[in-house]
Amino acid sequence: MFRKLFTFEEAKKAIEKHFAVKPLGIEEVSLLEAYNRVLAEDVVAPLDIPPFNRSTVDGYAVKSEDTFGADENRPVKLKLCGVVNVGEMPKIKVEHGTAAEIMTGAPIPEGADAVVMAEDTERKNSDIYIYAAVAKDENVMKAGADIKRGETVVKQGQILGAREIGAIAAVGLSKVKVYKIPRVAVLSTGAEITEPGKPLAQGKIYDINAYSLSTAVMESGGKPVYLGVFPDDPNEIEKALRHALTSADIVVTSGGVSVGPKDVIPKTLSFLGKPGVIVCGIATKPGKPTTIAIVEGKPIFALPGHPTSALLIFHLLVRQIIECMAGRKTVEAATIRAFASTRMFPARGRRTFVMVKIKRDESQRFMAEPVPVGLSGAITTLLRADGFIEIPENQQFVDAGEGVTVHLFKNLENIRV
Ligand code: AMP
Ligand code: MG
Repeated sequence: MFRKLFTFEEAKKAIEKHFAVKPLGIEEVSLLEAYNRVLAEDVVAPLDIPPFNRSTVDGYAVKSEDTFGADENRPVKLKLCGVVNVGEMPKIKVEHGTAAEIMTGAPIPEGADAVVMAEDTERKNSDIYIYAAVAKDENVMKAGADIKRGETVVKQGQILGAREIGAIAAVGLSKVKVYKIPRVAVLSTGAEITEPGKPLAQGKIYDINAYSLSTAVMESGGKPVYLGVFPDDPNEIEKALRHALTSADIVVTSGGVSVGPKDVIPKTLSFLGKPGVIVCGIATKPGKPTTIAIVEGKPIFALPGHPTSALLIFHLLVRQIIECMAGRKTVEAATIRAFASTRMFPARGRRTFVMVKIKRDESQRFMAEPVPVGLSGAITTLLRADGFIEIPENQQFVDAGEGVTVHLFKNLENIRV
């Protein structure tokens, strides 16, 4: 099969042209099911919170002016006029010269405008001695002070955690609208690939990609649907891909896309449906054999078998699509400036991504040190790398000591330099 390698940008454009990336849809879920989901509409408070003026302390509800001048030596004496408990509206009215016993969280009774803390009072039968003056509204939380009716409590696009779900519960809602989670079929190919947990026969290796890619799918806000490992047999692969298309919104495969006789994925993708293959190889290193198809309106990303290449291309091309379909804002990876620790060469005519480890030199400057290329196909390359640098296709080399931008896989705080 003839391959015209696309540049990285051409590959992105081809995807945009054939596949309109947008959120999959919206569904309503109960509050606890909403955990870690993306809110699809603003949550607006249908009422004031708190709904009534409430006491923030245990003590006595009073008219504040009755307490003016009170101190430790000259207490003011008021008459007990009743008790206000939590969970009920008070039936009493506080008149001049009187005080109502009140619990934390109970509604302020009519006539009162402040609460004296129990610690500043003394009670003798129905006489209440007030040892500290209070100002108007002291120890009172006004209706709507926390959340005003009509106020936006949590904004559309927010990923929901404990604080947000607590705030939604506060305004009395038991359900929320969230974006649907895109389902991503993940399948591995190759006669040598064995599922972890099974005994390893001679000549076989364990499946890395199904796990690294499924995890990357979850990190992007998608739900991985693991379909298994398939041999490099056109019939088996076709069956597997057709099944994948019926069970998911996106399909991600790994392996079988190089130019070897066993690499049957591109050929299979070419007759699965229209428009079929839209990208057949990208001028990048790693990731050159990456093949992308659109079938039945769904994208199929056939990634290289090498674990590092598969995950890098996922990161560069697939992640944003899943994030957008999941209603998530794409967060660009953080970058830092560093100095190249050695001279680095790109692959001729291909955009080259070099995995690097961040170190510091004697003067505490960040240095980007390539993770040994001998490990290029191994998962440990990614484990050791803190990020990658990108060398444009037309650049001859990056010189030692040259400034480079490192795209970080994780937050710098989590990197030990
Ligand atoms: P392929 O493109 O199928 O020739 O795969 C390239 C290399 O990646 C080979 O060494 C494969 O054994 C390896 N590989 C392919 N798929 C996986 C996988 N799922 N897990 C780990 N290694 C893989
Ligand atoms: Mg293979």
